[in-house]
Amino acid sequence: MTPEPSNELAAVRNVIARMIAPDAERVDQTSTFPGAAIRALAEAGAGGLLMPVEYGGQARPTREYAEAMELISAACGATATVYMTQMHCAHPINLAGTPQQVDQWIPALCSGAAIGAIALTESDAGSDVAAMRTVATRHDDHYVVNGSKIFISNGDMADVIVLFATVDPVLGKDGITAFLVATENLQGFDAGRPMKKLGQKGASTVELTFTDCRIPVDWRLGDEGAGYPLLLRSVLNSRISASAQGVGFAQGAFDATVRHLMRDGLLSAQRRDAQDLQFDLARIRSEIAAGRALVREVCDLVDSGAPEAAAEVSVAKLHCTALGVRVAAECVALLGDDGDRCDLGVERRLRDAKITEIYDGTNQVQSMLIARDIRISAAAVQ
Ligand SMILES: Cc1cc2nc3c(=O)[nH]c(=O)nc-3n(C[C@H](O)[C@H](O)[C@H](O)COP(=O)(O)OP(=O)(O)OC[C@H]3O[C@@H](n4cnc5c(N)ncnc54)[C@H](O)[C@@H]3O)c2cc1C
Repeated sequence: MTPEPSNELAAVRNVIARMIAPDAERVDQTSTFPGAAIRALAEAGAGGLLMPVEYGGQARPTREYAEAMELISAACGATATVYMTQMHCAHPINLAGTPQQVDQWIPALCSGAAIGAIALTESDAGSDVAAMRTVATRHDDHYVVNGSKIFISNGDMADVIVLFATVDPVLGKDGITAFLVATENLQGFDAGRPMKKLGQKGASTVELTFTDCRIPVDWRLGDEGAGYPLLLRSVLNSRISASAQGVGFAQGAFDATVRHLMRDGLLSAQRRDAQDLQFDLARIRSEIAAGRALVREVCDLVDSGAPEAAAEVSVAKLHCTALGVRVAAECVALLGDDGDRCDLGVERRLRDAKITEIYDGTNQVQSMLIARDIRISAAAVQ
């Protein structure tokens, strides 16, 4: 029996229908940051689906967060990315924050009063994140941060940034330490201008620069050197977000394609000449359903704390982000010339989907992680 949709998911659907879907083309065409949509989702009670109730969240299972991400992505990729980045910022705070840090930031992130970001990537430390060179040097009661981060979602809008830096580059992974950076009036901190991008244009992506930026010791998130394990736990959730986006972009492209073909009369049972097209749609629908089932299964594994969860998250990220790109591209092709029309929004889903194969660990990196797991599993049964 299908479970009743939760109040939170009903609220998400409502905000999408009322606000997010009707505004998606404008957000894309004008590269507008969808802050109002984020506040509307929060006001509707869906601003912190994975956060504890006592801190303004809804404490829902991960599969429900993934479903919300899928629905929002199907409507508007930029809004989905800003929404997920709020969660990617809140999640490590919830895992490693002091009671004071949690009190200060999680309710504000859940309510949309604060915008969050998470900053790992550097120009020479993307896939190999342990190679990061942004340094936080301890001086008595403060750290001095120097370095820069690139491609940071929400970076120019953020009130708080979960920053990963090293206390000593020589230590490699063991030097990586997390900090909570409150950006207001922060000296020595600069957020660059949003990049011009292929897709998800309303979600801003910027470079962050720290120049002798002095931050208090009590902004450290967890212990010195405890950043790398925190980062590994954080990417489990962010890869689920990307997987759900893949399914959402596929579903959004499929729905828009079906609507247009219906109007053209090509889905009529009498149109035997359109049977190949109808069979393509049948296959695409089954592929989306399989991707969605995979995401749900992986979410349940993550919630159960099963040791195989990390590798299965990589499987879902690899499969579902490729699904989003493939389905959106097929839908553009099925529409012929109309596939190129911005007003139908199918080309937007294709542009929005492409980056999901790259961020949150490229799909080549996911393949490496899966291959490693295959080796370990095979060795264990020998
Ligand atoms: C729109 C957008 C939003 C982003 N948001 C954020 C954010 O909010 N926070 C954040 O910290 N980062 C963010 N990123 C960064 C993103 O996560 C990185 O771009 C991504 O992890 C890849 O890193 P890289 O670009 O340095 O690629 P590189 O690591 O330089 O990789 C380049 C190529 O080499 C391949 N490659 C790398 N290593 C190997 C290997 N060992 N074997 C085989 N192939 C390999 C990769 O698959 C890729 O094809 C964002 C990026 C974009 C574009």
